[in-house]
Amino acid sequence: MEQQDLRSMDLAEMTSLLKELGQPAFRARQLFTWVHQKQVSQLAQMHNLGRQLLEQLEQRCQPTAFQLERKQVSADGTEKFLFRLADGNYIECVLMRYRGDLSKQRNTLCISSQVGCAMGCTFCATGQSGFVRNLTAGEIISQVYEVNRILQEEGDAMPVGNVVFMGMGEPLLNLSAVLKTISLLNDPQGQKMGIRRMTVSTCGVVPKLLELADQKLDVVLAVSLHAPNDKQRSSVMPVNRQYPLEQLMAACRYYQQQTGNRISFEYALITGFNDQPQHVQQLKQLLKGLDCHLNIIPVNPVANTAQFGRPDKKQVAAFVEALQQAGLKASVLEEKGTDIDGACGQLRGKVLREK
Ligand code: SAH
Ligand code: SF4
Repeated sequence: MEQQDLRSMDLAEMTSLLKELGQPAFRARQLFTWVHQKQVSQLAQMHNLGRQLLEQLEQRCQPTAFQLERKQVSADGTEKFLFRLADGNYIECVLMRYRGDLSKQRNTLCISSQVGCAMGCTFCATGQSGFVRNLTAGEIISQVYEVNRILQEEGDAMPVGNVVFMGMGEPLLNLSAVLKTISLLNDPQGQKMGIRRMTVSTCGVVPKLLELADQKLDVVLAVSLHAPNDKQRSSVMPVNRQYPLEQLMAACRYYQQQTGNRISFEYALITGFNDQPQHVQQLKQLLKGLDCHLNIIPVNPVANTAQFGRPDKKQVAAFVEALQQAGLKASVLEEKGTDIDGACGQLRGKVLREK
């Protein structure tokens, strides 16, 4: 029989599994605590479950097997982890430890939702590599649990407190596993992570965005915009040919109606492509009436994208200033870890090329 993954299971699923094994309900709560609160990676560590139950469980299930393959640390402190999955695939996640003011200290983890990505955005390392498969909820949440384990080993008392679905993959194309991960991370018997501390980033898969809106979840929504008109957006993001800006903006408005939440728009600034005065005006038109914030990111260099010029700090600041003058909320999002293949998908690409 195929082994079930405990990290993918919520309390209801554990309860029915244990019921099948003839065990009382309190055992399911114990099991849930081991898996999602204490985040242990081995059944053998769950010492209060009793031998008989552990033997039964060993026949049926395991926590997701995850192996740290490589870790890179950037000059700016950003850390990138490459994990090897049970089937030999690789995924990446990126840890940002924000320090400074005590109230602002936090560990934010950028996590992957798929191995590769089918969306084919031309500036993106993951997009260039194609799609392999969806991750399970257990594989998504294991990124948090494994990094928490590493933090603890290093004596960092602060576990991951924020997650952003900005690693590899398009989270809305793996929506059920992403929603399950969100609910498991939020669980009061697990990590108790506030939903507002989670960000879902999408390239704009409209029907799935509408589905997410109907969940009325308090997650932060980030939409990868990158260009202010259909012609330019379609040239770098194939998804725009299927769901052009008019549909995407209507979906964003619907999302805002349903949730009342401000939306973030990601805009990778590319010299001479999307940084001109007319683009500021087009953005102003496009975003009219939406409560939103623009995050301007100097495009990160990836392989085979010499055509995408990376603007310098002054150019980025000037563009942000022009947006603000036009009445838009905008700020610079420093791309972190550029020197360690910071953009997700790059490290995996490099390791796959080496092997
Ligand atoms: N698939 C989702 C989430 C993962 S990508 C999405 O596209 O939103 C996370 C963010 O990194 C997205 O905003 C994406 O557009 C951006 N990104 C990808 N490659 C980049 C690059 N080379 N430079 C800057 N941002 C990039
Ligand atoms: Fe996929 Fe996002 Fe990369 Fe586009 S930017 S290819 S949607 S991961």
